[in-house]
Amino acid sequence: MRYYTALTIAGSDSCGGAGIQADIKTMSALGVYATSAITAITVQNTKGVYGIQNVEPEIVKGQIEAVMEDIHPDAIKIGMVNDCDTIRAIAETLKKYQESFQHLVIDPVMVSTSGCRLMQEDALDVFITELLPLATLLTPNIPEAEILANRKIENVEDIKAAAAAISKLGCRYVLIKGGHFDGEEKIDYLFEGGKQKTSYRGISVNTRNTHGTGCTLSSAITSYLAREMDMNTAIAMAKTYLSGAILAGKDIKIGEGHGPVNH
Ligand code: PLP
Repeated sequence: MRYYTALTIAGSDSCGGAGIQADIKTMSALGVYATSAITAITVQNTKGVYGIQNVEPEIVKGQIEAVMEDIHPDAIKIGMVNDCDTIRAIAETLKKYQESFQHLVIDPVMVSTSGCRLMQEDALDVFITELLPLATLLTPNIPEAEILANRKIENVEDIKAAAAAISKLGCRYVLIKGGHFDGEEKIDYLFEGGKQKTSYRGISVNTRNTHGTGCTLSSAITSYLAREMDMNTAIAMAKTYLSGAILAGKDIKIGEGHGPVNH
């Protein structure tokens, strides 16, 4: 039987709603065997992030190599990467294996919902020059897209201009997630080579349980890509999965802050 596999390179979230924990739950739920390379350990609950310990870059590199040499994942996802040295180590390691994987989804995690910096400010340049060009798909939300494109986003025309600027950094597909957009509708926009390809309308759910939404979406896309779906289908199905998870968990009470989307 063909067994699909994926690798997540991301940070640990002790409260289990985001990061590596969300990624492994999502990939497992979608029938994909999940492997991991942990970049950082966060001290975190639903109310906030209280500490970050980066894993030594050599150990991050070692985890990726161990998985790549043995399991040969069908698709890879990158989430939280905190500092310059870690980002350089990941980029150098992945470049060695570029021929052996098809899809790399990068979720440019910068700041947690609770307001804690998950990528150091001085790591942004290295992230843009070393890691971004390796991505098949980048999944920024509006604030992240504003930082990457270095321009304000206030309307759909700004989203298009930001996507064109981000595409020039070297990734093939860009999915700009409209969840933080102040417009009437929550729409995600997919661009290929800077040109708009399609858009996805999202459901609006009244709940505090939104912790880990971005991690869950990018992991679900990675899982469907690993299962050989094309980009448009993978994103559409990942959005359906995420909406189902949010709806199913909207009234569950886990923790006192923003509860997890992923149970
Ligand atoms: N913690 C870790 C380790 C993460 O990777 C992420 C997001 O990718 C977060 C926290 C932030 O999650 P949220 O913004 O959904 O609270």
